[in-house]
Amino acid sequence: MQLFSIFGNPVAHSKSPLMHNSVFKKCNYNACYTRTHLLDGSKLKETFFKLGLSGANVTVPHKEAAYQACDEVRGFAKSIGVVNTLINENGRLIGYNTDADGFLYSIKEFGKIKNVLILGAGGTAKALATKFLQNNIETTILNRSFNRLHYFKELGCEATTWNDFKSIHYTLVINTTSAGLNDNELPAPNELLDTILQNTDFVADAIYGKITPFLQKAKDYNLTYKDGADMLLGQGVLANELFVSYSIEKEEIQKAMQKSFLL
Ligand code: NDP
Repeated sequence: MQLFSIFGNPVAHSKSPLMHNSVFKKCNYNACYTRTHLLDGSKLKETFFKLGLSGANVTVPHKEAAYQACDEVRGFAKSIGVVNTLINENGRLIGYNTDADGFLYSIKEFGKIKNVLILGAGGTAKALATKFLQNNIETTILNRSFNRLHYFKELGCEATTWNDFKSIHYTLVINTTSAGLNDNELPAPNELLDTILQNTDFVADAIYGKITPFLQKAKDYNLTYKDGADMLLGQGVLANELFVSYSIEKEEIQKAMQKSFLL
């Protein structure tokens, strides 16, 4: 039997075991998916091989550590330095990123996106910003601290901290911070978010399975919003295709995973 896992801190909330195990069970694939609470990202590779894993997903805050840990990084992950999916290929650790395509899939229903404001400047923000720019969508980053902004400026984004921010109209505002994941924090000061949300068409949060304080504000402003569940589904389907080496049809994977959201 093959063994898969998700690495994160925290990781108890993750739906990934349920999603992937649903596919394995429905499609009679001889594998099991578990979760691993990892405190120290530098121990990722060692832990992966100690557990005898065939593959894994990586969530907050270890996606950049996962990139560093890989023997080889392929596809989109290479351009962003962020890995969310790991494959054991004959004892070599291969890294991929399925988050950005998963997110694009999830916002199809919003139609044409002209410009996006991303709250946060971590791994998810990097993946989404790069994908948006590749799709000719103007992208602005708003983060609480300064250090990570340089990367985004180099990429071609507007990038500022809360103090320097001048709000304009956005088609979509996305929370990619972990504010609201395990606390009741907003991803930016309340008054700043008021200004932003009064001038926005759609809102999304990468956090799933709950109404974060940020989504609650969007709801209060009667905006169309979505949590990160569809993004989770999108990235999960693409990761599962890698886990099973494309031996199961994408539609089958998606159907089985979607059902797991109802459990
Ligand atoms: P990172 O740790 O890489 O980045 C976190 C970012 O959030 C940083 O920019 C950090 O700012 C900012 N931040 C953290 N706490 C706060 C706070 N209280 N207020 C304001 N800003 C804050 O995380 P990831 O990008 O990997 O993940 C971010 C979120 O997205 C997580 O909640 C994760 O669960 C979710 N996610 C969901 C997915 C899905 O499929 N639905 C997929 C991927 C991620 P600073 O730079 O100042 O430290």
